[in-house]
Amino acid sequence: MSAKILDGKALAQKIQLELKEEVASLEQKKGRPPGLAVLMVGDNPASAVYVRNKENSCAKVGIASFGRHFPNNTSQETLEQAILELNEDERVDGILVQLPLPAHLDSIALLHKIVPHKDADGLHPVNLGHLVRGEDGLRSCTPYGVMRLLAEYNIEIAGKKAVVVGRSILVGKPIALMLLAENATVIMAHSRTPDLASVTREADILIAAVGKPELITADMVKPGAIVVDVGINRISTPDGKGKLVGDVEFESVSQVASYITPVPGGIGPMTVAMLLANTVSSYKNN
Ligand code: NAP
Repeated sequence: MSAKILDGKALAQKIQLELKEEVASLEQKKGRPPGLAVLMVGDNPASAVYVRNKENSCAKVGIASFGRHFPNNTSQETLEQAILELNEDERVDGILVQLPLPAHLDSIALLHKIVPHKDADGLHPVNLGHLVRGEDGLRSCTPYGVMRLLAEYNIEIAGKKAVVVGRSILVGKPIALMLLAENATVIMAHSRTPDLASVTREADILIAAVGKPELITADMVKPGAIVVDVGINRISTPDGKGKLVGDVEFESVSQVASYITPVPGGIGPMTVAMLLANTVSSYKNN
């Protein structure tokens, strides 16, 4: 069997075009474009690439960027003050703190300072609480992107057995809740799960959000399963250039699965698209 590709890159482009049209039609009424502020601290090269990507995508759909880049030694108070100002700034609909932050900063405390209706990353406890309760609210971008991609390919979720490997607050936990809300039977696996392969082999829908290159191999996947690879890992190659791989061994697993997301080109672009969608949603609603 050769799995069909769940093409996150193509869907993200389609979503961006839809958002661009929506922004163009709303802008006249609102008298301003939507605004997103991405706050970055320090010089983590991967973060710098992600931030540039987000700002370029904003520009494509007509979202104004109010991002700020702070030096590595910035204090917690300075960042909190910046967030409080953005909370009050009427041109700004979404605020995002690019993670990870330098070790001396408390990222959770910062996320709590963002006013919930501008929480473009959906990580504020109020928005996570809405998710737990099944209420409307801003959804965390990566899991939201996974669900949107599954919906685009009409993948039936109700009644399916879904296994989520990874239980972070950023990905694993919210995605498990979203699958549960769609009536999947959800199992969460993590680093303390014994015999991971016997658990993953039960999955009709398998989500890998671990951060371990190619952890999921073909023998861990039920034939015909739908496999979503959230992982982004840089590994070294003999030519010294390195490359990005997911948490799933793509070549072998794509021989067993019915659908699979590639890395890159799967959940990464969907995450950015959902960030833009959240910003436009706050713009419309506030
Ligand atoms: P994280 O906070 O490090 O969490 C990793 C999770 O994997 C933890 O729950 C951990 O279990 C579990 N785990 C670690 N080793 C394991 C093993 N051998 N077997 C089973 N479970 C194991 O990572 P994250 O923030 O969720 O990110 C996960 C991956 O997704 C990373 O590669 C990250 O780069 C990627 N990511 C991609 C996007 C995107 O836009 N596509 C967005 C966010 C993250 P414990 O809880 O027991 O420690």
